[in-house]
Amino acid sequence: MKIKRLKLSGFKSFVEPAELRIEPGLTGVVGPNGCGKSNVLEAIRWVMGESSPKSMRGSGMEDVIFAGTAARPARDFAEVSLLVERPVGEVPDEFGVASEGEVEVTRRIERGAGSAYRVNGRDVRAKDVALLFADAATGAHSPALVSQGKIAQVISAKPTERRMMLEEAAGIAGLHVRRRDAEQK
Ligand code: ATP
Ligand code: MG
Repeated sequence: MKIKRLKLSGFKSFVEPAELRIEPGLTGVVGPNGCGKSNVLEAIRWVMGESSPKSMRGSGMEDVIFAGTAARPARDFAEVSLLVERPVGEVPDEFGVASEGEVEVTRRIERGAGSAYRVNGRDVRAKDVALLFADAATGAHSPALVSQGKIAQVISAKPTERRMMLEEAAGIAGLHVRRRDAEQK
């Protein structure tokens, strides 16, 4: 799966609609401290279905909505759209995907109304979005999305914590839950 474009509006510091195109090759995002670089990665994780406000550096999910400044009022909603290119044939038919295999996933949150998802303009469930990315071996918890501070965390982790990270990356963390479940039966 290849990311082609990211659109943000009202998401964290991106109060005005912004569009980031990812061209072939290596893309870098540079800028001074606090300009919103980490917010870009969080937007990608959020549109893929992240449900933990803590991993978005907030206390509640509505904290992703632009909170306002002395000069600007807060926003009522945040919206992020991710355009990805997938090989033809990989996308379930129900999403009405164009023949070239482009999929646009949109997540929107409104104050007091929660999140809603769309795939190519059609309303879908959070579960559909989770499956879409899981089938492409990616998603909000993909080890390909490395948050700021995570590298230092890996280096300074205790052996048991490091093992947990490796198990998560290998996709076998769920086996422990199933084993515990089986042992109790
Ligand atoms: P660094 O180089 O220090 O890692 P960065 O470019 O990664 O910085 P971010 O952490 O992405 O910066 O952006 C932080 C900025 O986003 C802060 O100025 C913070 O006030 C702003 N911000 C975060 N959430 C919101 C929100 N809900 N509303 C308005 N601004 C927000
Ligand atoms: Mg940062």
